[in-house]
Amino acid sequence: MGATIIDGRDFAAAVRGKVTGHVTRLASEQGIVPGLAVVLVGEDPASQVYVRSKGKATVEAGMKSVEHNLAADTSESELLALIDQLNNDSSIHGILVQLPLPEHLNEGLVVNAIDPAKDVDGFHISNVGLLGTGRKSMVPCTPLGCLMLLRNHHGSLSGLDAVVIGRSNIVGRPMVQLLIGDSCTVTVAHSRTRDLPEVVRRADVVVAAVGRPAMVQGDWLKPGATVIDVGINRVDAPERGVGKTRLVGDVDFERASRVAGAITPVPGGVGPMTIACLLANTLTACCRSNGVPEPEGLTA
Ligand code: NDP
Repeated sequence: MGATIIDGRDFAAAVRGKVTGHVTRLASEQGIVPGLAVVLVGEDPASQVYVRSKGKATVEAGMKSVEHNLAADTSESELLALIDQLNNDSSIHGILVQLPLPEHLNEGLVVNAIDPAKDVDGFHISNVGLLGTGRKSMVPCTPLGCLMLLRNHHGSLSGLDAVVIGRSNIVGRPMVQLLIGDSCTVTVAHSRTRDLPEVVRRADVVVAAVGRPAMVQGDWLKPGATVIDVGINRVDAPERGVGKTRLVGDVDFERASRVAGAITPVPGGVGPMTIACLLANTLTACCRSNGVPEPEGLTA
């Protein structure tokens, strides 16, 4: 029997619907409108697309969206001055600086200049520390989306063996913390891991965040395992025509879906959850800053 396909588009739409409902109530009952500011430095086309879609989603959720498009040669002090202004703007509850930044800007310095309470990407060192010590924090959007999909599929994750492949600061490491928080027994694999197939074979839950097309093979999986494929890799697709490409994940979907119990597709799995969680984080930040109860199920 084939695996259940975990439909990230559907679930992300449900999360966005829930956010929109809370935003509508916040506005009508308390006169509060959550606001998200997105800062883009330079003209990287992929980043421009991300920023536009974030802005559109924010408006669709009934929130205030502010975009700051800065020239590629913006100085660090100019960028820090803008962040300071946004930190002090009470109509802005979330600040996101689109990464990567141009090389002359110090990413760590810029990210850590954001007020941790408005850090909706969850990359500020204070939020990293809070998450790492099991306390309330702003949680990075992609791993938060993976956690929501897993909770929705399994109910409780307690006691499950989980393997996270990848240890980046934006996906792998926070994912590990979230799974520990939900009482999984977690193994972290990376490029130096010996016998990765054997490590993966132990897992009830596999989260692949590597960036290598179709690396995780079907026969690496424990039958019935749940597979969350974070990878987004563009590969040539000559079958679609000359010069055509398509997106694939880090997991060999076709073979894996014959062994797994449940699996996320690429596209249409984790991807849509990332923006949904950005909206959820903005709402959470707004509720916390106004001392209003946070909606349940929208954070870790
Ligand atoms: P990074 O390149 O920062 O990290 C990749 C990780 O994979 C590293 O920890 C690396 O190990 C590990 N790795 C590399 N090769 C191997 C290997 N052969 N075996 C085991 N582990 C390996 O990537 P990100 O975490 O930023 O992203 C991972 C993937 O997720 C990418 O495809 C990216 O596009 C996608 N992504 C998707 C998002 C979404 O919204 N769906 C959001 C963010 C990312 P080491 O540390 O030893 O080098």
